Amino acid sequence: MTLSPPSHVRKVEPNLQIIPARKGRGVRMSKGQSIRLINTYGTQVVDTWAFNAHNLGERMSMEHTRAYLDKIFPAVKDTFVTNQRSPILTILEDTTPGNHDILMPACDVYRYAKQYCLKEYHDNCTDNLRHALESLGEKGEEYSPSPFNVFMNIPLKDDNSLSWEASTAKAGQYITFKAEMDLIIVFSACPNDVLPINGNQSRDAHFLIF
Ligand SMILES: [Zn+2]
Repeated sequence: MTLSPPSHVRKVEPNLQIIPARKGRGVRMSKGQSIRLINTYGTQVVDTWAFNAHNLGERMSMEHTRAYLDKIFPAVKDTFVTNQRSPILTILEDTTPGNHDILMPACDVYRYAKQYCLKEYHDNCTDNLRHALESLGEKGEEYSPSPFNVFMNIPLKDDNSLSWEASTAKAGQYITFKAEMDLIIVFSACPNDVLPINGNQSRDAHFLIF
């Protein structure tokens, strides 16, 4: 689904850039810049990756960030680190209920084919990452580093199991990151319409750099 942003988003954010439903988008940022990621229509998960702009082998790492933060639910003021343990992104603001995931991998062709038994190609966040990097003139990768799954609601239940729940982010709510180094950030509007995580339908999201 591709729509214009609702008026409540347009009014406050005149320079929005789109992340099309089911697709990815990458952009370069300088150290010190901020980026606001907006859940334009609500309930849309956005897989997020960040790479050192001068060395793409250094990238935001969920496993290293878990060890750095000693938590599995990041919040405002928390800083994500790379696989070389350098700060790369910090959460400055979060107007959502704060449900985000740093445990689950990006969806890929294998998940749709093997776990969901779909016979035809399904858009997926891993291919979206590769295409977004290639669109910036960088080499894409076949396998995705674990993303920060922004707006993704994976609660830990009392029996220590995890559950794939619908996103609790409402239309117009956002999260803002500060770039701690020159970086490439990539977003994917997750196309998963098999589970309820995206409200059963992938939609556009938007971002703004300032
Ligand atoms: Zn996905």
